[in-house]
Amino acid sequence: MTSSYRITLLPGDGIGPEIMAVAVDVLKAVGRQMDLSFEFEEALIGGAAIDATGEPLPQATLDTCKGSDAVLLAAIGGYKWDNLPRHQRPETGLLALRAGLGLFANLRPATILPQLVDASSPKREVVEGVDIMVVRELTGGIYFGTPKGLFETETGEKRGVNTMAYTDSEIDRIGKVAFETAQKRRGQLCSVDKANVLEVSQLWRDRITAMAEDYPDVTLSHLYVDNAAMQLIRWPKQFDTIVTGNLFGDILSDAAAMLTGSIGMLPSASLGADGPGVYEPVHGSAPDIAGQDKANPLAQVLSAAMMLRYGLNQPAAADRIEQAVNRVLNQGYRTGDIMSEGMIAVSCKGMGEALLATIDTFK
Ligand code: NAD
Repeated sequence: MTSSYRITLLPGDGIGPEIMAVAVDVLKAVGRQMDLSFEFEEALIGGAAIDATGEPLPQATLDTCKGSDAVLLAAIGGYKWDNLPRHQRPETGLLALRAGLGLFANLRPATILPQLVDASSPKREVVEGVDIMVVRELTGGIYFGTPKGLFETETGEKRGVNTMAYTDSEIDRIGKVAFETAQKRRGQLCSVDKANVLEVSQLWRDRITAMAEDYPDVTLSHLYVDNAAMQLIRWPKQFDTIVTGNLFGDILSDAAAMLTGSIGMLPSASLGADGPGVYEPVHGSAPDIAGQDKANPLAQVLSAAMMLRYGLNQPAAADRIEQAVNRVLNQGYRTGDIMSEGMIAVSCKGMGEALLATIDTFK
């Protein structure tokens, strides 16, 4: 029986439309093989939406997203919109999309593909085989806590204030996503906090520890964030799934990403309690190479695989896409950003064609 899904496509700006086109072709090809039918609806976000409507996230776009099973986003932003007031900036559209869909969990895998080990800065033996998932809380913590702002003290000094706060329920819902993610992986969860100094972290540690009873198949450990940063660089292979708050997750997920050495390869997922998740590459809109058919579409294609795995519960189709990416890299195809000696240089479209040819052999 065919399973049908409504997917909102948000190509956005810069290289967005180019990499999105490749991901859509790949989804269609795998869908045909696996009896999945996709109904795609394209909508405006970011600079493209500002140009057309004056707003970075038109209500019509949010409504389309809410009515779909999943949202596939490319990237937003570019020089043209950099000097607009904050509420009209492309990035504001992205934050509004996350808020509008209640996306509180950000999943960022850092997987080293064997073909690209040499693109990483640490030594080969340190990074070879790294496969980490960072689960970051996205809508709470110090980025949203109150009071916040610039105040004046009694002596006339300026005082900048932000508040790191989490409630039981905010911790429990991200904890649930993290334990379930670890269950789908190797069953090891490391919770990162600063419980030796911060009360908010003590609460975080207590709640996560209490939840572990419900997940006997997951082994839970805890690390202070300073130690976690060190361990990520020293011996990243010790990690499977990491769960942490908004600020620590922001920093650690970028550090983990850099282990892989190639920003054009990294997908992400942002999930809510129910409703559609948003699946997008970690990189931006790369305005420096936009419109030149030079972009690496693989992070976008791997985001589509994450959408199948985490959003549509179609892990076999996700496996197939990930396998295709693996094979084209094995065959030596490289876009400019991951090019090395002796490999076959391809354009964005060329990489898409190589993927389709590989998927064709899976029949
Ligand atoms: P960027 O990720 O767009 O680009 C950084 C560098 O990496 C550039 O040299 C670019 O050419 C290269 N690069 C990025 N993705 C690539 C790909 N798929 N293939 C080949 N090369 C790639 O970051 P930036 O230059 O700091 O930002 C550019 C714009 O993107 C800004 O407007 C920024 O606000 C926006 N941005 C958007 C997102 C998002 O949509 N989630 C994330 C980060 C930055």
